[in-house]
Amino acid sequence: MDKQGIKRRGRQQVEDVTGNGRPADLGVLQALVTEMLLALGEKPGRNGLLKTPERVAKALTFMTQGYHRDIDHLLNGALFPIEYDEMVIVKDIDFFSMCEHHLLPFYGKVHVGYLPNKKVVGLSKIPRIVDTFARRLQVQERLTVQIAETLKSKLNAHGVGVVVEARHLCMMMRGVEKQNTIAVSSSMLGAFRSQPQTRLEFLKLIRQGSVGDSD
Ligand SMILES: [Zn+2]
Repeated sequence: MDKQGIKRRGRQQVEDVTGNGRPADLGVLQALVTEMLLALGEKPGRNGLLKTPERVAKALTFMTQGYHRDIDHLLNGALFPIEYDEMVIVKDIDFFSMCEHHLLPFYGKVHVGYLPNKKVVGLSKIPRIVDTFARRLQVQERLTVQIAETLKSKLNAHGVGVVVEARHLCMMMRGVEKQNTIAVSSSMLGAFRSQPQTRLEFLKLIRQGSVGDSD
């Protein structure tokens, strides 16, 4: 398996992807899908395609529902005061997103770690934070940074580390011999950035086999 790191040029401003605040318009989407089928040389009136515009409109709306989710609402009542100050790790969180350059899926796993500062978040909320940002049009680097910065600020954590490993259909389906490439991106904040041993501990823990793995 070929793993490819994504290089970041310094710290970039993260582009705003909160959407325009309007709900998805299913009618407009359906009409556009019909137009697209025509433009592709298809016959939208043939049997197999009759319900396709409606299905595509619904699928796209589902896959971009993250625009309409509010992180504060999501975390409401899920932050707990605690004296625990060891690293918390949630790894192998499955995600599915859509690349904003080709509107094709990219998917894989997210690994999250943080050092609490008198506060922890309910563990089930971390995959939901991942989902909230994944279900938008994205680029992998921004998805990674948004998850990390959200946890850092909402938890006031001493540090946060996020690693995302993903396969991109735009590379796999269009590219030449890129079918097995996994793109890896990471964002290290606070102690995960300033303390090499913290970062190494995190990277080691996410590399260990999962509970119940045979290998
Ligand atoms: Zn793409």
